[in-house]
Amino acid sequence: MPGTSKADLYRQLPSVDELLRSPELAFTIEREGRDSVADAARSVLGSLRTEIAAARLDAGGVRLALSGISGAVERQIGQSLGYSLRPVINATGVVLHTNLGRAPLSLSAWEHMRDAASGYSNLEFDVDTGERGERDVHVDRLFRKLLSDAGGQSPFPSPSLPAPPPPTGIATIVVNNNAAAVLLALNTLAEGGEVVVSRGELVEIGGSFRIPDVMSKSQVTLREVGTTNRTRVADYEAAINEKTRLLLRVHRSNFQITGFTEQPAIGELVELARKRNIPLMEDLGSGSLFDLRSLGVNGEPGIRDSLHAGVNVVSYSGDKLLGGPQAGLLSGRGDLIARMRANSLFRALRVDKLTYAALEATLLAYLKQDHEAVPALRMMHLSKDEIGKRAEAVADKARSSRWAVEIIDGESVIGGGAAPSAVLPTRLLAVIGDGLTADEISARLRASDPPIIARVEEGRVLLDLRTVFPEQDGAVIAALQEMAR
Ligand SMILES: *Cc1c(COP(=O)(O)O)cnc(C)c1O
Repeated sequence: MPGTSKADLYRQLPSVDELLRSPELAFTIEREGRDSVADAARSVLGSLRTEIAAARLDAGGVRLALSGISGAVERQIGQSLGYSLRPVINATGVVLHTNLGRAPLSLSAWEHMRDAASGYSNLEFDVDTGERGERDVHVDRLFRKLLSDAGGQSPFPSPSLPAPPPPTGIATIVVNNNAAAVLLALNTLAEGGEVVVSRGELVEIGGSFRIPDVMSKSQVTLREVGTTNRTRVADYEAAINEKTRLLLRVHRSNFQITGFTEQPAIGELVELARKRNIPLMEDLGSGSLFDLRSLGVNGEPGIRDSLHAGVNVVSYSGDKLLGGPQAGLLSGRGDLIARMRANSLFRALRVDKLTYAALEATLLAYLKQDHEAVPALRMMHLSKDEIGKRAEAVADKARSSRWAVEIIDGESVIGGGAAPSAVLPTRLLAVIGDGLTADEISARLRASDPPIIARVEEGRVLLDLRTVFPEQDGAVIAALQEMAR
């Protein structure tokens, strides 16, 4: 009936009650309960109505849909009672992809989390004395070792300053994420007072973390100095008054200013802060414990570099370059960290035992110099040749009459706001399909199980195996072969 009106089509749909009475669903109702099945039936009928309204279903389509409606209700139940959060294969080449969960955890991290999660632990209990303990001790002890090691070389040599004393008494506390760390630090060190920041660093990160907003929520007054592209140490100095509580430097992360720019060397700020007896804090964003120069990335200060240069407090994320769980870390001068710990906000922002477990295992990998164990570090250090060899192997098995799979040079991105302009050379699989657009191919890859997330660039679908675990290469091959059918 080509001319059937929408009203006629709607009338052909059964009611929820009619559906629930159908013998095909009797067993499902017995198994899943009447309410779940009614919910699923409502949702399936709702989708059919939407399809009719959008003129995507004619009389034949409605008949076909109705013949399989009990199956659709069962699938709907399976979906709504299944997990929504699920693993995907990251073939984007963005190592720290915020939308894909940033850093994958090491095997030891999740084993340690599982042990801490599935039973009781000494989270806040001193087993030796039998008394109440502190949750911080589990990771503070490791950060002390990692950050006090004099091996960290400052990329900001400051000839005008005597070598800063090695940072002894560096303490570290953990909160929910770096946004929380900045909030806690500002509120503790500068509530009711002024914080001096360069205009060029008033950045927004990840769409919702805006330095000026965090300032006002921390109850501090922002004192902007300099211009967007140029700020000199004299600008900071001129802004200091009796209400100044803190000098703040912020890593610009995903944002870069090129051309005519000027920023004081960290040594100059350290000198000013000492002279005026005001603490200096640096929001590193993606602080790292390894030397980024090992990736050919220059000019990115590590956590140790900043502390050794004389910065009093640094804040950074746990799940960016550190390669651990979501967390915000504050490391710095013992007395300042102790004040943050005593702030009641710290209690509200603290993290649970799972985060401590994952962090402890990740930090131990650094102490043992076992960088290969931390997936994000391993992926960043993969060479173009290693990736190229795997890409060849995938392409050999995935080529078909319907797909051209080429291997081309390209670039991976670290992500997470680290070193915004830094890219890592890689080899990419470029999939060019017969009669399908790049968007259609990438949608099909996302529809595979587990979903494969690729990049689309200049009409081509690009897969970067840098961020694909080698044991997932088979799933990529299978998905490409399946598409060719
Ligand atoms: C990423 C980032 C943040 C926010 O860190 P989260 O851990 O995502 O809360 C804050 N500051 C800078 C400079 C960043 O790069």
